[in-house]
Formats: sequence, C-alpha cells, structure tokens
Amino acid sequence: MSQLTELCAEIVNCSKCALAQGRANSVPGEGPENAAIMFIGEAPGFHENRLGRPFVGAAGQFLEELLASIHMRRESVYICNVIKCRPPNNREPLPNEIEACRPYLDQQLELIKPRLIVTLGRYSMAKFLPKASISKVHGMPSKFGAFVVLPMFHPAAALHQPKYRADIENDMLKIPQVLASVDGVEQAQPGQHAEQLSLFE
Ligand code: URA
Repeated sequence: MSQLTELCAEIVNCSKCALAQGRANSVPGEGPENAAIMFIGEAPGFHENRLGRPFVGAAGQFLEELLASIHMRRESVYICNVIKCRPPNNREPLPNEIEACRPYLDQQLELIKPRLIVTLGRYSMAKFLPKASISKVHGMPSKFGAFVVLPMFHPAAALHQPKYRADIENDMLKIPQVLASVDGVEQAQPGQHAEQLSLFE
C-alpha cells in the first residue's frame, strides 16, 4: 500500500473534529500519485459527501469543462479539498475544522509534490496567500516555498455569479504556460533561477 493510499484510509476513518459525526463519507481526494497539478477546493458538498469523491456535483462538472478547455481530463490531475468532510448545509469551514484537516493536506502536498497547485476559492488560497484578495491575485502564479501556486475563483462561484465566469475560464487557459514555465525553472541551473522566476513574482 502506498503512503498516499494509507493517508486516504486514515482520512476515511478520521474523527478529529465534529464534522465526522454528520458525514456519510469523508472525501480524501483522488488522482494520480505523481500528478503534475493539484487542484484544491474548499470542502465536500452534498454529492461529494454521498459518494466520497471530490467535485462530483455541478461545480465538478464545470471543473471538468474547464479542464477540457486545456485538453486535460480530471483523471490526469489530483483533486482534493482543504477540509475533507462536508460542513452542515454547506456552510463555510470553521478555523478548527481547517486546523484539524491541515496535516492531511500538508501530507498530500508532500507525497504528491505537484509542480503546480491551483487553489479554487478563498479558503485554499488562504493556505498559501493568507493576506491576498482573490479578486486581485486570481490568475497570477506565485512561489510558495517549493511550490508554485495559481489562485483561481471557485467554480461554484462562477456558476452562481456570471461575472466570475470569464475570469475562471481565462485563468484556466493560463495553466499550460505556467506549467511549462515551472518545468523550465526546475531544469535551469541554480544561477538562472532569479531570471526565470520573473513570471511568478
Ligand atoms: N466544492 C468544493 O470546494 N469541493 C468539492 O469537492 C465540491 C464542491
């Protein structure tokens, strides 16, 4: 059993916060262990709780359409959430719930080591850019330690508020170029980094 499979089994049995009592299923996340891109949403909703899989409702369908616009399928990326259990009535996650789940997301990042992290919505953006305003920084890649983070609006926000739709569609179209730049940085010699990172800073 891989370490990631073990971690997901741990999440399935987690009882670290009160959300465990109300869930049908926890939703660890899914995708290849060597995925180049990790999408991080907020929390499971109604359908995710029922099926134990991330982004399987309307927001998930839109995410799949966005991925198709860059010729990618959901099976080729890792998809997970900041918190792994559904909050009652889809309310926003509480600080203690985010804190209880934080080690799980940290371990997922450590095991998968994605070359690019795409945050979907404010809660996942806040893990990396706690002071940023999503309206200002969406679509702008930045470095966070060893990771490159591209913040985007949440697909559900774009479904409910059409003004975000063009933004999320345009931000998604940037992914291939951002990923190519990350690869360029990884292959560069140490002395070249500052110059090649200019895209991200
Ligand atoms: N919204 C999220 O943030 N995550 C899901 O898994 C589904 C909807």
